[in-house]
This record gives sequence, C-alpha cells and structure tokens, in this order.
Amino acid sequence: MSIDSTLRLVGLDSSPPLEVSNTAPTRTDAAWAALHTVPDPEVPVLSVCDLGIVREVHVSEHGTEVVLTPTYSGCPATEVIAASVRAALLHAGLGPVTVLHRLAPAWTTDWISALGRERLLAYGIATPGPACAVGEGVTPIRLNLHRLRCPRCDSANTERLSAFGSTACKALHRCLDCREPFEHFKAI
Ligand SMILES: [Zn+2]
Repeated sequence: MSIDSTLRLVGLDSSPPLEVSNTAPTRTDAAWAALHTVPDPEVPVLSVCDLGIVREVHVSEHGTEVVLTPTYSGCPATEVIAASVRAALLHAGLGPVTVLHRLAPAWTTDWISALGRERLLAYGIATPGPACAVGEGVTPIRLNLHRLRCPRCDSANTERLSAFGSTACKALHRCLDCREPFEHFKAI
C-alpha cells in the first residue's frame, strides 16, 4: 500500500505552500522554506518571512548569507531571531550561515505579507494600517511595555510624555535623570 505523496506534502504544518515548480527545488528555495519555519519571538503566529524582515537570501557553495532588517533598531528579539535563522538554515544543510543586519530603510508594518496579515487577524490581532499615515487609524501590533533607556545618558529612569512625537511613528519620552526629551520609533 502506498501513501498518497500529496498528503505527505501538504497540510502537515502551517507553513505556506512553496511556489509550484516543475524543476527541482534549488538550495535557495530550501533556504526560504527553512526561513518560513522561523517564528517571530514577539508575534509567534508570524514567521520572520511573514513579518517581512528577511530582505535578502544568497545561497552559494560557500554557505548562506541572510540579510535581516530588525523591526526596530535595538530590538532585543533581534539576536534571538538571528540565532533561530542560523539554526534553521544549518538544520537544512545550508551552512555555514552568515546573518547580516540592515537598518536602513527601516522596517515598517507595510512589509508584513498578505499571509501574515491573515494570520494576525486569525489570531485576534488588529492588522496595522499604512505606516506613518498621520491622521488615520495607525494600530501598533505590539506595545512597548518596558521602560526605554535614555539615548543620551543610558538611564532607565524615563517616562513617556506623549504617544506621538514628530510623526505618528514616534512617541515622545523624557529622561528623568538628565531631563532631556527623546523620541522613540515605535514598532509599527
Ligand atoms: Zn538621560
């Protein structure tokens, strides 16, 4: 008795189907497939691909190079994601792995894939509107619950003055030690 091979290929996990191709999957395809299994640690319903932080993947006989753009610079999840990306690609036999971080252009919720938005909705999270659309209902997908460190003196003794700074993407904070105000680019 043979097992229907189609059933073995679909429906066993929640990863999105790969593009159908008549040619054998390339090592680059394998790399993307591996990356689709890496969850975002802060929004685990999304893979790093759904989130749109995987900007480039280069596979050669010398290994794999991945370019990531963190959701915002200094995000503590960045190193967790890099380690998970490295592990997934090594597991797929695509090492050695080099993970590079690119900070500009900055990540925006506009980079969340259509599939990612479906997954957020299914998970009960309001999907973000266009990034930095001042005057529209910009919905952050996560809240910053920890105190920010002052960019000038590194004090954690800070407070938020306003949810909006110079743009809708930024919040206005103040350091209670050096008394300087500073902006925080929110993860939206
Ligand atoms: Zn300060």
